[in-house]
Amino acid sequence: MKVVVQKFGGTSVATEDARQRLVARVKHAMSEGLLVVIVVSAMGRGGEPYATDTLIELARKAHPEPDPRELDLLMSCGEIISTVVVSGTLRASGIDSVAMTGAQAGIFTDGAFGNSRIIRVDPKRIMEELDRHRTPVVAGFQGTTETGETTTLGRGGSDITAVALGASLGALSVEIFTDVDGIKTADPRVVPHARTIDRMSYDEISQMAHEGAKVIHPRAVEIAMRHNVPLRIRSTFDDAPGTLVSRTQGALAWPESRHYQVVTGITHVTDLCLVSLLNGTGAAPPITSVFRKLAEGGVSIDMISVSQSDCSFVIKEDVSDRTNRILKSLGLGVDLKRHCAKVSIVGSGMRGVPGVMANVAEALHDAGVGILQTSDSHVTISCLISHDNLHKAAQALHSRFGLDEASQQRGNQS
Ligand code: ASP
Ligand code: MG
Repeated sequence: MKVVVQKFGGTSVATEDARQRLVARVKHAMSEGLLVVIVVSAMGRGGEPYATDTLIELARKAHPEPDPRELDLLMSCGEIISTVVVSGTLRASGIDSVAMTGAQAGIFTDGAFGNSRIIRVDPKRIMEELDRHRTPVVAGFQGTTETGETTTLGRGGSDITAVALGASLGALSVEIFTDVDGIKTADPRVVPHARTIDRMSYDEISQMAHEGAKVIHPRAVEIAMRHNVPLRIRSTFDDAPGTLVSRTQGALAWPESRHYQVVTGITHVTDLCLVSLLNGTGAAPPITSVFRKLAEGGVSIDMISVSQSDCSFVIKEDVSDRTNRILKSLGLGVDLKRHCAKVSIVGSGMRGVPGVMANVAEALHDAGVGILQTSDSHVTISCLISHDNLHKAAQALHSRFGLDEASQQRGNQS
């Protein structure tokens, strides 16, 4: 059975025009002899009647703090509405289809309402429908507990449904249809000449998603990686091939190539705040109590730097007041630098390559951008900078690592 999972995001199911394009995508795959399983998101964005944000608002109007179980019941309706509308549209154009909730599709989760994890997938019903030549249209973002409670997978969770189904069906690939034509080398609002990446590895896309790129849910990438399911991120609205994500990155296939690329993309996160503990006495900061108290206060920290005399880390701007209070209650002097952004270079090709940080430092220095803090992993280097420098910094790194030139795009290696 050659199965492909096609997931359509909110804008791809929101209008009649978009749904006709969806039908064309499904017909195209079927004409290639593939069996298609469709996963859909809720229609449109906040303010539109069936969008997830609109449903959340509705619950909040009834009670300012909705019951999590009931909120999941309500939110799950958005995707169910999409399945019925899309299935109807498919049938009207001659494709026999069947709308399904997450539970009917065999998506079993734990009971963490609002942010459930899939614990198993039982694709029996989907297989039966495929055997009957019916195209399943599955509600993304939702599942059921073993005891029959409806759950949701966290915002953006339809990607997770699609990849989990793809893995359990042994799909040839999972196609994520959206309103952009793939993963970009940078956010085009920050780097206007950013290009679409044609191939990248799971590692890279997962880092880019964690470091701020908003195209796919990071947990969906983790499942794809674990089960080695190729992903293709592409536009519903044009024929461009999009970005193929698989185990091997394009450039690694040709390590001798002159165009071997160290960096695949640049990402950024805004609204960050750098916290430095001031230590007048020169004594070591009491890090055990600092980190424990922050954890108890529900503050998540990042870019952590601890030395014998200093301690600093990065938090989201919206928890800065709470953090300040917690640290002051420990009698510590605190310096908060608000209005920061984190810009990251991401690329599997940087592993073990000398000189990457030298290039980062030079590029930012030449652009007049000061580095406040850094962190790195085997495939990323991140720099915390002032938000005012974000565009300058991202553009400088984009140029320095050869991402401006189309000739260096993956797949074009000589
Ligand atoms: N509709 C859900 C959300 O807005 C899930 C998704 O779109 O993937 O978060
Ligand atoms: Mg999404």
